[in-house]
Amino acid sequence: MKEKEDIIEVISKYVPLTKKGRNYYGICPFHKEEDKNPSLAVSKEKQIYTCFVCRSQGNVDTFIKEFNNRWSSNWFTTFLLLLIYLSNI
Ligand SMILES: [Zn+2]
Repeated sequence: MKEKEDIIEVISKYVPLTKKGRNYYGICPFHKEEDKNPSLAVSKEKQIYTCFVCRSQGNVDTFIKEFNNRWSSNWFTTFLLLLIYLSNI
C-alpha cells in the first residue's frame, strides 16, 4: 500500500502556501477572478482544502484532478489560438 502524499506538500508544488495558525493559505488556482487575498485554506489535520470564494473543496486527489482539468483546457485553448495565429501569417 502506497502511503498518501501530504496535502500541504502536494498543493505547495502548485501554489505557494503560508502557514497561519493551524491551517495553510494560498491563492486559489480554480476561480476565474484574480485572487488578491489568499482564499484557499488547506488543513493538514484533515488533509482537505477549501476555497472561500469559489467553494471548491476536496482532498489531494481532487486537487490534482481539478488542477489538471482547469489548466490543461487552458493550454489547449492557447494552442488553438497559436495555430490560428500561425495560419494567418
Ligand atoms: Zn477558488
